Amino acid sequence: MPRRNHTPDLMESQPGSHAPSPTARRVRVMLPLPFAGALDYRAPTGLDLRPGDIVSVPLGRRTETGVVWDMELRLPPEFIPPPMPPVAAGRLRAVGGRLDLPPMPAPLRRFIDWVAAYTLSPPGMVLAMALRTSTTAAAPRPAAGWKVADEIPPGLRLTPARQKVLDIARAGPPMSTTDLATRAGVGASVVRGLAQAGCLHEVVLPAPRAFATPDPAHAPPVLEGEQADVARALRDTVAEDRFSITLLEGVTGSGKTEIYMEAIAACLEKGLQVLVLLPEIALSSQWTERFERRFGTAPALWHSDLGPRLRRVTWRAVADGEAHVVVGARSALFLPFVRLGLIIVDEEHETSFKQEEGVTYNARDMAVVRARMDNAPIMLVSATPSLETLANVGAGRYRHLRLGARHGNASMPQVRTLDMRASPPERGLFLSPVLTDAIAQTIGRQEQAMLFLNRRGYAPLTLCRTCGHRMQCPNCTAWLVEHRARRILTCHHCGHHEAMPPACPSCNAEDSLTPIGPGVERITEEARATFPDARILVMASDTLHGPAATAEAVDRIARREVDLVIGTQIVAKGWHFPHLTLVGIVDADLGLGGGDLRAAERTVQLLHQVAGRAGRAEAQGHVLLQSYVPDHPVMEALVSGDFASFMEQEAEQRRPGFWPPFGRLVALIVSADTPEAADMTARALGHEAPRLDGVQVLGPAPAPLAILRGRHRQRLLLRARRNIPVQPIMREWLSRVKPERGARVDVDIDPISFL
Ligand code: ADP
Ligand code: ZN
Repeated sequence: MPRRNHTPDLMESQPGSHAPSPTARRVRVMLPLPFAGALDYRAPTGLDLRPGDIVSVPLGRRTETGVVWDMELRLPPEFIPPPMPPVAAGRLRAVGGRLDLPPMPAPLRRFIDWVAAYTLSPPGMVLAMALRTSTTAAAPRPAAGWKVADEIPPGLRLTPARQKVLDIARAGPPMSTTDLATRAGVGASVVRGLAQAGCLHEVVLPAPRAFATPDPAHAPPVLEGEQADVARALRDTVAEDRFSITLLEGVTGSGKTEIYMEAIAACLEKGLQVLVLLPEIALSSQWTERFERRFGTAPALWHSDLGPRLRRVTWRAVADGEAHVVVGARSALFLPFVRLGLIIVDEEHETSFKQEEGVTYNARDMAVVRARMDNAPIMLVSATPSLETLANVGAGRYRHLRLGARHGNASMPQVRTLDMRASPPERGLFLSPVLTDAIAQTIGRQEQAMLFLNRRGYAPLTLCRTCGHRMQCPNCTAWLVEHRARRILTCHHCGHHEAMPPACPSCNAEDSLTPIGPGVERITEEARATFPDARILVMASDTLHGPAATAEAVDRIARREVDLVIGTQIVAKGWHFPHLTLVGIVDADLGLGGGDLRAAERTVQLLHQVAGRAGRAEAQGHVLLQSYVPDHPVMEALVSGDFASFMEQEAEQRRPGFWPPFGRLVALIVSADTPEAADMTARALGHEAPRLDGVQVLGPAPAPLAILRGRHRQRLLLRARRNIPVQPIMREWLSRVKPERGARVDVDIDPISFL
């Protein structure tokens, strides 16, 4: 007899209230654990269980929360994993009970199966992403607040603290215990004491504004010309009420966000839910403000920084259909929408949509799958669409809508390459005099300038001038990065950090350790020396903690409290800085090394995005690219703005070798505690590699990050023609190799990182 879980969330089965069923009914329950599939249980008599019901079940001596799963997987045949052996009817354990939660909708269950099969992950681990927050999310109690009673009971002792609470409670709307106590500057016990004495009445607080109904007619924009045409096309797409994929392409500042808000409006008019995925949650503050201006209320947010209560409340509001618009990071894909009517993926080309840990999946691609499961339209939005998406447009699979010009009087910034060989910076400095002159002039005109360098810290390498020793991470094949403000050397891969040693650890020479190359800290030091009167703001992911700090920095820029912004990739995002007219790219060549298949494409996308921060209002914007290879096709594309030709060239380079998007890649990453275990496992994989037409295996070879967090790593790469489903091949291959002790093999379908 399983131990019954007596949490109040459980609706216990009621023996005798229904006719007992003659045979035990088998149900399949998916648990958020790394099993190969759903487990078999018995439905207790009288408990009518259906797929999607969230239940508690016994597992060993524990009780787990799981979801009643469908008896049959609805997947393409090549995707279906081998079945788990059935459990004999007599050995089935009974489901403990059904939780008082909305059932998981069928499209989400099918989506979970699909993602698991595609990424070769245990389905339970994908389910875990959908359940992570909800296991404890029985109906969240509505938040309670306090209101002052009409009559204060006679004889009440009114201390100053009590008086203060009553004054504040009288002055405003009902507030929670915590809010009331904090505002009054007293302990929560004072509030509770007043309640007990009958001076405060409990009331239900209104739902958070994030779940109020957005009003599509609140403040629609005036649309003309191509904006009006594109907005109409998007609205028509939403009206079709079925799965379709649209690429919305438009230069930075053309009004893409403004226009896709019209698609959201169309969806809201139909009473359907909308999911908006942003690559970076830091962006959500400006997005949310914009949404509020357009629709009169805030959207619901979903990201990893949400507090536990808000997570539960939001999850529940999505499941109940009360959250109409959710804007979030990739994990929002796994929310239990009940009537999803539209998905938007903003900045679809961003590689941060790829989750690299745990279940590795690309949220952009999986968003397309989710839209198909929910039979809803999806819109991919970008100024510089990925080659994958362009190939899909070329093949006629995606629709294509374009905005050609910036909105209003704004024109595209003028981009110029600065040949660093012709106008080098002074010794020991990193900014060319041409760039510093331009910054001085910009600031002199009371306009704002920005310097971009995609590298945190002070210097990427510290070297001993006497013996040539390089400061390396003890756990990784990586140099330690100096962070001078914190007086440390740190590893950007594993987080290891140590104090900057006074002498070289290898030859003991003093004052011999020298920083090589710049990070943003070092550029900031140089800028402070060059422009002593300028108000400088640094925006880097390690100096801005969380969305609120980022929002504050962005507001300061908008309020013109800043002359010069110095930032890492965080400034590249879709910010709107109306007074910013000059962008200087400190090292335009930075992303081109390393032999990554997408290095050139990514550099163009990133630098174009940064450049797009300039000149978004009336004044003309300028962009200067510091480069030692000014003739590189990447620089030429950025200067001409002709990305279509650049992407065609990229396509021509990838097509003959069947590189993505013309073929498929799967990376195998072998990692182990010892080099021998990694080596032997990798070699066994190499030995068993599939030999099939149209399939090629490269490697094994030591990974560029040969040691990461103390683990030794080897890589193999499978490349296949596009029409070959790789999942069955991978399953077969992996089943033939048993990793050595201490070794594991991670599979990365459609890899983005090759480190
Ligand atoms: P994108 O997303 O393409 O970079 P945005 O939608 O952010 O472009 O638009 C750029 C700027 O122009 C924003 O400040 C936006 O509010 C403004 N804008 C764009 N279209 C309109 C419009 N039709 N009416 C008013 N403002 C607009
Ligand atoms: Zn490290």
